Amino acid sequence: MYLNKQYIIQNLGQKVLDGHQLDCDQVLSLLQAEGADTFDLLSWSNRIRQHFKGNRIHLCSIVNAKSGGCGEDCTFCAQSSHYETASPVYKFLDQKTVVEASQTAESNKVQALGLVAAWRGLGEGRMLDQVCQRIEDLSQSGRVRADASLGLIESQNVAQRLKEAGLSVYNHNLETASSFFDQICTTHTHQDRINTIQHCKSAGLRVCSGGIFGMGETVEQRAELAIELQELDVDVVPLNFLVRIEGTPLTDNDPLSPMEILTTIAAFRFALPQKEIMVAGGREANLRDMQSMIFMAGASATLVGNYLTTGGRSVDDDLQMLSDLGLEWDWNYDW
Ligand code: SF4
Repeated sequence: MYLNKQYIIQNLGQKVLDGHQLDCDQVLSLLQAEGADTFDLLSWSNRIRQHFKGNRIHLCSIVNAKSGGCGEDCTFCAQSSHYETASPVYKFLDQKTVVEASQTAESNKVQALGLVAAWRGLGEGRMLDQVCQRIEDLSQSGRVRADASLGLIESQNVAQRLKEAGLSVYNHNLETASSFFDQICTTHTHQDRINTIQHCKSAGLRVCSGGIFGMGETVEQRAELAIELQELDVDVVPLNFLVRIEGTPLTDNDPLSPMEILTTIAAFRFALPQKEIMVAGGREANLRDMQSMIFMAGASATLVGNYLTTGGRSVDDDLQMLSDLGLEWDWNYDW
């Protein structure tokens, strides 16, 4: 049994290196690796990362441009008005705060800063004008790339306006597989999220889309999500691991173990070998001392600095970790 799994991992690893795309059953068999097999899996995911991405790491930071009070009911989210959480509530940020966040990111050699807003999404109108102004402020403020995560986008015109304002990458996570989505959100659909991604792609924006793990989904649903992202051909795949926020319906969920998290990262590297696999929210809280293993598991990108509603560890600690691992990051890195 042990040898059999070891053989499957090796066989699939070689297939990926040879340019083959894995299907859902193959990704599932990787997600089911456990015990000593996990280390074989990590060894292959590391090899795949190095083959397709080299030793360069892509760093992003985010600034919460409008916090709390969101009318949607996503069960994992501290910013939903459906739940009582300690998340701050404030309106859209002014120019000065955005420019300062950009300068901080630049001083850390972080390549991109994402403006993130807690609301359902963006249509035509005054709010879109204000958002476009902030994106212009950000894109003209220095060397940091202007990214954003602004919820559902209702038309290609809206996406086009964001692009014309200087936006490079739009983040919109699928969050979870379509077969599980209605258990984590009832106020919009998985298809609404796919439509947003398609509007962005049609407007020529690059897309960052991934999910959150540890919400009660099965391993089969993790494989399903990997294949959905493969089919959407997104550019960056952020993997978030649930941070259990007091007051939300998921506060009592069992946390994923560090080994299960590393196995998930590795399976996504196999499934999406040429994409940026980014470890985002929940890195410190869930992996603790095993954070540096995300790169061996196949991550080629990570979020540094504070997250939306929870603090991250210091950027200096993260940069020291990259340096200790012999990994590189710089301004000019683009995928
Ligand atoms: S739409 Fe975004 S901000 Fe609003 S509740 Fe869902 S995840 Fe939170």
